Amino acid sequence: MGCRRRCQNHFLDFNFNSSSSSSSYIRLVALLLLLSFFFANFLVVNGKANATPSPVTPINHDLYHTSGALLEEIETLVHRHPDKLSIETIFSKNKGYQAEMTVVTYCSKRTDCDGKSKFRILLSFGQHGRELITSELALRILSILSEEEFLPNTDRGSLNNTLDRLVIKVVPMENFNGRKLVEAGEFCERRNGRGVDLNRNWSVDWGKKEKDYDPYEENPGTAPFSEPETQLMRKLSISFEPHIWVNVHSGMEALFMPYDHKNTTPDGFFSQRMKSMLEKLNHLHLEDRCLIGSGGGSVGYLAHGTATDYMYDVARVPMAFTFEIYGDGTASSKDCFRMFNPIDITTFNKVLNDWSAAFFAMFKLGALQVDGLHSGAVASSFDKWISIDDYLNGYLMERRNRYGKKMEVLELGMQEIRTYFRLFMLSSVLLMFMFCSRISKSARPIVSAMSL
Ligand SMILES: [Zn+2]
Repeated sequence: MGCRRRCQNHFLDFNFNSSSSSSSYIRLVALLLLLSFFFANFLVVNGKANATPSPVTPINHDLYHTSGALLEEIETLVHRHPDKLSIETIFSKNKGYQAEMTVVTYCSKRTDCDGKSKFRILLSFGQHGRELITSELALRILSILSEEEFLPNTDRGSLNNTLDRLVIKVVPMENFNGRKLVEAGEFCERRNGRGVDLNRNWSVDWGKKEKDYDPYEENPGTAPFSEPETQLMRKLSISFEPHIWVNVHSGMEALFMPYDHKNTTPDGFFSQRMKSMLEKLNHLHLEDRCLIGSGGGSVGYLAHGTATDYMYDVARVPMAFTFEIYGDGTASSKDCFRMFNPIDITTFNKVLNDWSAAFFAMFKLGALQVDGLHSGAVASSFDKWISIDDYLNGYLMERRNRYGKKMEVLELGMQEIRTYFRLFMLSSVLLMFMFCSRISKSARPIVSAMSL
């Protein structure tokens, strides 16, 4: 600020002192501008000429559905099995931006689907646009639930016995608008249709930025729950009260539990229970190749404002997970389709087979919890399990409603102020950076292998 003022004064002095030096000064400035213009163009052209175009893998449509075809296939599948499956599309709108979300509910024989006697599982796929494989897994799981496809080495009778005790809600494509951008050629886009990362838009530790924060990847939005997609998911979690939540991603192979915003796992019984569940899935169906632990402690970066941290800490879902189902660490950082999705049919099928087996194993382990509840088992673990249901329905729901919402409102106020401050700073430096951005266009920022 001070410097700018000094320079301006100097310029004025200079201007008024002599008209001849004034015109030579203008000529000098014009020359400098002209030179810098040519220099910038030289850099851009040269940058383009020198950059060897790195190969970018396009979407393989022999393996992958388009978003429209995938949702259509799910809809017809549901309509063929009205005894087990139902479907709804939910909408939300905010400042001219609308999101829609398909939700499929599995509830065998359509008995007690809205009641709370069954064990409830909520699964979300496709929260990040570029992770197409996750939505293909959603379709596979729904096909197996409908009995149109089968899990190898599984006795259907015993599986159905398991499934009778569950209600499973599947969101096959949480980020429909972001996915559309990917299909239009933005293969590295993970954010929603207006540039917000839906896995940074939740209220737990919202908006905190690490040193390596990259807005292209992790823009948390203007406030917690600023995005319609996040609002819809929050509503769903509050009305459904799941016992298990899984946020399904790709970019690596991992089974994560809370927390994402710090590098520790929670203390106590449910933490142990989550860890033991993940170890079983990893060993039985994933050849022990997955990383297990807290997202923040294992993924290599801390993530603030994630869905899984909210589900565990605020919605009080007893078992909250993030599964990372595939990643190609050898892919170039600009080759996003390849980095996040299998590109050959063998790997594609292996990912879907292994992970659907892991999900159904998780369903089975979930149903065992219901057995414990209903048989009145007195093992201490079940006592504790029952106590979490009291916990859910009683004191903590109360606490969530009273203090949780108050805290969100407070956070929101602070966030608004921060946002306006940032906007002010941004606009004041924008002009300064216009020239630089012209040059840097030739060297677009490299997309990091961020998956969570
Ligand atoms: Zn992701």
